[in-house]
Parts: sequence; C-alpha cells; structure tokens
Amino acid sequence: MKAVKYIAFALLAALIVSHIAFEPKKCEKTQFCLDTVVTLTAYGKGADKAIDKAFNRINEIEQKFSAYLKNSEIYKINHSPYNTFVKVDKEVFDLIERAIMFSDITDGAFDITLKPISDLWGIGTKNEKVPTDEEIKSALDKTGWRDVVLDKNTYAVKLKKEGMALDLGGIAKGYASDEAARVLGECGIKNACLDLGGNIVVRGEMPLGLFESIKCGKRSRPFTIGIQEPDAPRGESGQPVTVENGCVVTSGDYERFFEKDGERYHHIFDPKTGMPAKSGVRSATVIAKDGAVADALSTAFFVIGNDASGKYKEYYETVIFAK
Ligand code: ADP
Ligand code: MG
Repeated sequence: MKAVKYIAFALLAALIVSHIAFEPKKCEKTQFCLDTVVTLTAYGKGADKAIDKAFNRINEIEQKFSAYLKNSEIYKINHSPYNTFVKVDKEVFDLIERAIMFSDITDGAFDITLKPISDLWGIGTKNEKVPTDEEIKSALDKTGWRDVVLDKNTYAVKLKKEGMALDLGGIAKGYASDEAARVLGECGIKNACLDLGGNIVVRGEMPLGLFESIKCGKRSRPFTIGIQEPDAPRGESGQPVTVENGCVVTSGDYERFFEKDGERYHHIFDPKTGMPAKSGVRSATVIAKDGAVADALSTAFFVIGNDASGKYKEYYETVIFAK
C-alpha cells in the first residue's frame, strides 16, 4: 500500500516538474507608442531582452517618422521652405518612396500628403470640427502625391506646393511592425505575435503547454487573430483568421471619429473629396507578408471599398471587408 502511495507521489512530482520544464517561456510587454497601445509577445530563450530591443526600434522609428515630434525627419520636411530639396535619413526616404508607389498603384486612394486635410478636421483632437466647403477646397489645394519629388541620388525630398506636408500615419505603423519582427528574428526569436494598435504581425506558431500539447498531439499551433467587428466592444475578438509569418491590418471608421447631427466623421480621408471616405464599407482588413504593404493597402481598400476587390493581387494575400 505504501509503495503505491510512493509511486503515485513520484508520478505526480514528475508531472509537475515536466509541466514546469515544458511550459513555453513567454514574455509579453506593453507600451504606449506610435500614438497607440503596442503589445509584443515573444516565446523562447532571450524573449525578454529581444522585446526590449524591438521596443527600442519602434521608438526610434517614431522619432524619425512622426509628423508631430519636432526632431523628426518628417517634421523637418514639413517645416522646410517649399519647392526646395530636403535631405533625409535613408530609411525615411525609402518609406516615402514606397508610400508614393502605393499612391501610384491605387490611383491616389492612398496619399501621404493629406496632412492639411487631417489637420483641418482635427479628428481625435480638441479642435475637431466639420469644416466648410471653402476650407476643404483650400486644404485640398495643398495636397497631392504627384507634387512630392524624390531625388534618390541624394535621398532628398521636395514638396512642390506651399503649405504641403507629409503624414505617414497610414503606413509607418506597418513599417514599425516589420522592423520589430526583424529585430526579434535577429535575437533568435522564432515564435512571436506583435500587436501595434491593431496592426498584427505573426512569426512562427504559438508554443503549447504540456496539457494542451497532450490534448492536441502537437507542441504548437498557429496563432489565431480575431478581426475586430466594427460595432463590437474594443478588443473583443471577432472573426478569427489563422496566420503564420504574416501580417493582419485593419482600417476602419470606428478607430477615431466624432459624430455630429447623426453623421460619423472618421480619420481616413478620400483624397479626391477631402471628406472622410465613404465607400460603403466599415472596415478593410488586409493579410500580407509585409506589414507596411498591409497597412498602406488596408487604408487604400477602405477608401476605395468593394470596387478594389481583386486589385493589386500581387502585393497581398487576402482582403476582408466589413459592411
Ligand atoms: P490607423 O492608423 O488608425 O490604424 P490607417 O492605417 O488606415 O489607420 O491610417 C490612418 C491614418 O493615415 C490617419 O490617421 C491619417 O494620418 C492618415 N490618412 C488618412 N487618410 C489617408 C489616406 N487616404 N491615405 C493615406 N493616409 C491617410
Ligand atoms: Mg494603414
């Protein structure tokens, strides 16, 4: 009888020890940066330090790309005399060049020169208002991606019209997510899930604990990402998609908006009208390998709406619209 007790005790101890040993090492940290809540989750040895490095990289990108920080490269471009070349950091030049390429292929639905329009509407600030038609027209005159001139030899950028200004808010978060994932990879992290305010990047799979492993017969399973439903409470997981080594990015009318006289005014603008885009969809979600691509295209798809289905197929894997 005593022997049975000892064996049962030994088995239990072995189970507890192996459970602890088998439990995947997970590290998760959250910071407020890029004007949003960023949560990085990584698994395996060195995850803690790797996440710190990834956050450093995200903060470095914010310092360079923010249109509002006085020491940023974008601020420098926006506050230099117009029609004059301004030399910029190479990675800033490269992302501006990619952004312009997306304006080109989306016929201007994606446009990083809309800052005069977003400043006018002030969505999400204490100055938000519905501007007059004249105000919109005069702000629109200061926009236009075709008036951004790039000199690749000197990494210089010129804004041709007076009052023009860049805002990379529709692509920089995606770029930051790619870079954060790259830093984690360089630190030897194979499994991670990064959430930059709804811009999700996944690397590898989610390692499982002992009990789940036994139940499923495998040591990991693909990450499942819930696509936010437009009217569901924030953070409540919606329609699930499974992703391995890819990005899921959603642009929607529920992120930043105000309502006046029963009308919703949100933060993604139609560059043709200077009004919040009204293409008949509530959100557009893009799944792609590259975060910057997914970010730019989700904004463009939201502006164009259903008509864009099937276009730009070589750049992404899936687009999902919510109506
Ligand atoms: P979020 O940043 O909320 O995730 P998006 O990626 O769609 O959403 O980017 C929206 C931001 O991009 C806006 O806050 C504004 O700075 C900028 N923006 C607005 N309309 C456009 C547009 N048509 N093309 C490019 N950028 C835009
Ligand atoms: Mg975007």
